[in-house]
Formats: sequence, C-alpha cells, structure tokens
Amino acid sequence: MKGNEERAADMAAQVWRQGGLAAFPTETVYGLGANGLDDAAAAKIYAAKGRPSDNPLILHIARKEQVLSLVKEVNEAGHLLMDAFWPGPLTLIFPKADCVPYGTTGGLDTVAIRMPSHPQARKLLERVNLPIAAPSANISGRPSPTTAKHVWEDMDGRIDLIIDGGAVGIGVESTIVDLTESIPVILRPGYITKEMLEKVVGEVAIDPAIMGTMDQKLHPKAPGMKYRHYAPKAPLTLVEGDEVSVAAFINQKVKDAAPKTVGIIAVEETKNRYEGGIVKSIGSRADMESIAHNLYDVLRAFDNENVDLIYSESFSEHEFGQAVMNRLKKAAGQQMIHLNAE
Ligand code: AMP
Ligand code: MG
Repeated sequence: MKGNEERAADMAAQVWRQGGLAAFPTETVYGLGANGLDDAAAAKIYAAKGRPSDNPLILHIARKEQVLSLVKEVNEAGHLLMDAFWPGPLTLIFPKADCVPYGTTGGLDTVAIRMPSHPQARKLLERVNLPIAAPSANISGRPSPTTAKHVWEDMDGRIDLIIDGGAVGIGVESTIVDLTESIPVILRPGYITKEMLEKVVGEVAIDPAIMGTMDQKLHPKAPGMKYRHYAPKAPLTLVEGDEVSVAAFINQKVKDAAPKTVGIIAVEETKNRYEGGIVKSIGSRADMESIAHNLYDVLRAFDNENVDLIYSESFSEHEFGQAVMNRLKKAAGQQMIHLNAE
C-alpha cells in the first residue's frame, strides 16, 4: 500500500493535470498551485485569491533542466545562481519562452521560476512533471499562510485540495532576482540575502521599490510590489527606537486607546515591558529566523482576536532582517513611528 505522502502526490498531480487548484507546503510559505502552462488553470488562481491579473505568478519546478524549455536563455549569472541556491528559496526571472502563457506572467515577456527544496513540494512537482504556477495560498492582501490551517481559513470552498505538510520552515516568501538587466537586481528580499548573492555573482542591485522609498509614479518591476500586502485586518503601526522608549510609547498608546483593544508585537527580550493590551512574542531579537518563522502566524492570530489596533516593535534591516522588515512595512502600509529620531 502507498504511504500518505505518495497518495498526496498522486492526488495533487491528478488535480493539476485536470486544470484544478491544489495548495502545498514549500520551505517559504504555502503555495496555491495550478498547471503553469494552462491559461485557464492560472485564471482560477487569480479568481480564488482575488488577485489582480497583472500580478504575475512564479513557476515551480522539480529539476533544473526544466528551466531550459521555459525560457529564451539562461545567462552566466543565472547558471551560477541556480547552481549555488537551487533547490531553495530563490526565484529567478528570465525572458520567457513562447510555451509560457501570458496568463501566468501577467502579460510580461519574462517568467519567474523557482525550484523549492521542501521534500514534499519536490515530490509533488516530480510526480506531476509540469511547471506549477504557485503564488502564496492566501486571499490577496492577507498575511501569507505558513500552516495548512492558514490555507484552510482563506481557501476553504475555493480550491480542490490542500496538502498538509505541517508548519513551513522559513516563513517569508522567496528572494526574487531579475536576470534580464546587465547586473542581477533583487526585486523582493528573502532568506537569500544580497550578501549571499554577491559572493556568487559579484555586484547585485536592489530595486528601490523594496523598502517603500519608491516614487509612487514609478512602475515597479515586480508588479506585486505596488499592492498592499501581508496585512492583518486591524491597522498596524511600527515603532522604531530603543527598547525602553518603544515600550513606554506603546504602553501610553494602549492607555489612550481604551476601551479599544490593542495588539502588541513584542519579542522574548521585551514582552514583559508591556502593561496592557494583548502581547504576542514574535520570536527572539537575537534570532531573526525565529521572527520570520512566526511573522504571519502572529499577524493572523490578531485577526482571530479581533483587536482594533496593532503596534509592533521594529527590527534590524541587516541581512535577513531586510526581508522581515519589508513584509512588516507593507503590512503596516508604511506606517512607522521613529522615536529618538534626530
Ligand atoms: P507571490 O507568488 O504572491 O509571492 O508573488 C509573486 C511575486 O513575484 C510578485 O510580487 C510578482 O510581482 C513577482 N513576479 C513574478 N513574475 C515576475 C516577472 N516576470 N517579473 C517581475 N516580477 C515577477
Ligand atoms: Mg503572495
């Protein structure tokens, strides 16, 4: 008899071959998968998520060789990055081959491709032997799902299958690197940092839209960047400053807001400084990976507790911290208060 994982792979492959939607775990977040070569199947992803149709999808593959049939060319930087970081949380953007429909690329002549490292994701992708278009398996704009329960909350009744692989490891989406410019450009920060990329390919640029400093009139290269994203239902404000001032500021806000309920995102090191509100620890300031891992679960938990306002501590933007702060700033709609500012 086949084990559960084998049967899950058979079921997902069948759903995908029939043009349906199956959500599955990856090492970054849960993906909402469909056949990436089938316009009609991709259209179902946009409908299920309520996603704007100009926001392109990432194709997920099981083997590096699959790239060759999906792109016009792989340049030297592409080969170096694929060899160094695949399978893993790095998405690469190439000029697309004709077989990739515009329905999956949001009308662009480029295609985003990733080879995940999660063992169950790899098994499903090997079984189906098709490139699977898969954005995060959440309703558009909400925090990304990092457990099958999160997927269920958003997608119950909208999709054909959810594969439960437990909680994901990393907890924020893949790093996206555009290979169609003269030097590679980071369009979205993730676990693979600029420093890690530069050790492999030399100079790497960062798209100015990433940290929200972009002129609103510029058209962002990763179309997803122009949309509000990752957001809890209650308005979120980030507070930046030294530990003592941040806690004092938020404690005052909790008093001022009464009788409204305030959610507070703190860390292990600071959680006991808060005197009221609903305090959740997002991890340890000394361990950025713990903060990334818990980020979306904490944002979703505040939705379930129906808080009216959320205040969050702010984190270092050094290395992997850049990915975490990019998501938090978007979740906050760029609302940030700087204490101790000169
Ligand atoms: P999601 O799958 O929801 O994490 O979003 C996928 C992200 O990849 C979006 O921000 C897209 O804008 C970006 N993306 C996908 N394909 C391309 C492409 N061809 N060029 C630029 N960005 C892309
Ligand atoms: Mg997403």
